Amino acid sequence: MVIRGVVFDLDDTLYLERAYVESGFAAVSRRMAEISARPASECRAQLGQVASDASFRGRVFDEVLRRDPQLAARVTVRDLVETYRSHEPTISLLPGAVDLLEGLRQRGLKLGMITDGPVASQSAKLTALGLSGTTDPTILTDAWGIEFRKPHERAFERVEELWGYSGEQLVYIGDNPLKDFVAPRRRGWLSVRLVHPEQLHIREQPAALEASPSESVHGFAEAARVLALWQ
Ligand SMILES: [Mg+2]
Repeated sequence: MVIRGVVFDLDDTLYLERAYVESGFAAVSRRMAEISARPASECRAQLGQVASDASFRGRVFDEVLRRDPQLAARVTVRDLVETYRSHEPTISLLPGAVDLLEGLRQRGLKLGMITDGPVASQSAKLTALGLSGTTDPTILTDAWGIEFRKPHERAFERVEELWGYSGEQLVYIGDNPLKDFVAPRRRGWLSVRLVHPEQLHIREQPAALEASPSESVHGFAEAARVLALWQ
């Protein structure tokens, strides 16, 4: 098999998503502090208390405002979500990510990206990580609508069209067995699950063969070795 292009996921593949969450909570804490004239550290603790309870996942800000009517009188959930999504994140690439990307490029492979999530957030992450313009295409699926998030095949099909390669010549590298490997597998791509300690989905297992990656690797150096074998 001869691969020609490698497409990456972003969150928890090239940087740690928990760092983004921390950065977002810090931004929201500053906003809460500004509105309520309290120390940001106190607001951060208030967020942390709710966020530590998994049952509030996806509605942390709703719960924070429900518990704090004074704050709720001055700010909306929507405003806090907007603050979180549009903040300039303090995040960095995982060690070894740049070497892998550069190494693949030097070996003549095309590099692309397919990532889900609000367009403003994903764009801000790419800028903060210095990745803007380094992959082509960079597909933010939410720009088409959230119904095109993985496991939808549209983004993978688009890469094949743009590059003029078939699935057998392409690889997708991601972290999340719940959604990352379904579409590439259906389209005949190879796929790699990159495992880093501290990922949010590290304990998830693929539900079935259809959701399984071709290979699982621990870290970028091992990924580079697998890709070299396929090239
Ligand atoms: Mg991911």
